[in-house]
Amino acid sequence: MSKVLKFGGTSVGSSANMRMVAEIIKGENAKVTVLSAMSGTTDSLVKISSLAKNKEDITPVVSFLSDKYTTCVRELLTDYQAAALEKCEQVFSGIANAAASYDGPSTERQILAQGELLTSAIFTFYLKEIGYKAKLINIPDFMFVDENGKVDTDKLKNIKREIETGDKDTFFVTQGFICTNAEGKLDNLGRGGSDYSAALIGAAIDSSEVQIWTDIDGMHNNDPRYVENTYPIRKMSFDEAAELAYFGAKILHPATIQPCKEHGIAVRLKNTMNRNAEGTLITNDGDSQKRFHAVAAKDNITVVRICSARMLMAYGFLRQVFEVFENHKTSIDMITTSEVAVSLTIDNDLNIDSIVEDLKPLGKIEVERNSAIICVVGKIGYSQAGLAAHILESIKSIPVKMISYGASARSMAFLVDSEYKKEVLRLLNNNLFNLC
Ligand code: ADP
Ligand code: ASP
Ligand code: MG
Repeated sequence: MSKVLKFGGTSVGSSANMRMVAEIIKGENAKVTVLSAMSGTTDSLVKISSLAKNKEDITPVVSFLSDKYTTCVRELLTDYQAAALEKCEQVFSGIANAAASYDGPSTERQILAQGELLTSAIFTFYLKEIGYKAKLINIPDFMFVDENGKVDTDKLKNIKREIETGDKDTFFVTQGFICTNAEGKLDNLGRGGSDYSAALIGAAIDSSEVQIWTDIDGMHNNDPRYVENTYPIRKMSFDEAAELAYFGAKILHPATIQPCKEHGIAVRLKNTMNRNAEGTLITNDGDSQKRFHAVAAKDNITVVRICSARMLMAYGFLRQVFEVFENHKTSIDMITTSEVAVSLTIDNDLNIDSIVEDLKPLGKIEVERNSAIICVVGKIGYSQAGLAAHILESIKSIPVKMISYGASARSMAFLVDSEYKKEVLRLLNNNLFNLC
């Protein structure tokens, strides 16, 4: 059964790391290797595009990126060096040309795609250089999204045929993150989207396992960027992983789990820098039996409160509220209701002004920004006394703005001001995990 392996920016961030990736894909017998751009590239491309938009000088950022890539090529390649340097030259002059004739978001998307295109090309040259049979797949020829950003999974299945044309021992290399949109132009699946690309490709080729290789030993019980003494979780269910990814565990793009769960494909999170570490295995095998398994936090949440006496004893009120959000293509994360008020949260406030306008006929509207959702995942069943109390007791010094409990027996979420996020994560780390 074939495996899809995805490597993030740090994993392909230097010539030394690319050498490790080549060893790993051989050891794992990867059928498809999905690559992000070298670390920092996409941020630099975003910067280039915003400079271009403002008609400012892009030269320093382009030179910085070009040096990074040409250094990598010189360190990595001999036989294929000239071809790879030519490819670099082509990509960077293409970026400069696109920037010079900047024409809105489609130019930005075209610029953003170049990191993955170049990294995958260089890595394929390297595989050939060391004698592997390797073939580069241009993923925009297979990965299409419609005007709502939805991936056409039927079209993506064509990639299976492409792969079957290769020898058994051919390593197929492709780009994460990028795709073709409804206008036939280069687009992307959103920041961090390479994980999602790998999951979609895994589903399209009926793979047995999707491996996400990154810079840490698997999914930790808490966010290691803010909390000390976190530890990797060996096994978790698709639903637990999806919940953590959705609520801020950056190691996984939130959409990654869905295609794998649907097709029963195991997801393994592994560390490129410490490849013998066990990592995390995510499968359909039941949720954790631990009371508290992990926590995650998601920032930049906006709360919308609708206060209305019309809600009292009325039916159909919530439908009207939800319709407004649906009309503005904005998804709701958390919701709490009382008899005269509804509070809900969104993470995308692009259309907030029109949403508020459309909600006004329903009642008094308040909008509050800069909140964070904290999600605790575990065996938080309804039949056991004291679990919610234990979580809230742990953070009793922090003002809580909303609580969501009872939607599933696997999680509890609450909302705090963003300024308390790190403190809450630390308090929960100290007070929940010694109980497991
Ligand atoms: P890549 O570039 O390989 O896709 P990311 O930076 O997207 O890597 O994801 C890996 C990072 O996710 C880790 O370095 C870590 O700081 C962060 N992270 C946040 N929450 C978690 C968590 N719960 N477990 C593991 N890593 C996490
Ligand atoms: N390179 C893209 C980003 O930085 C996609 C990814 O790394 O997953 O967002
Ligand atoms: Mg990532």
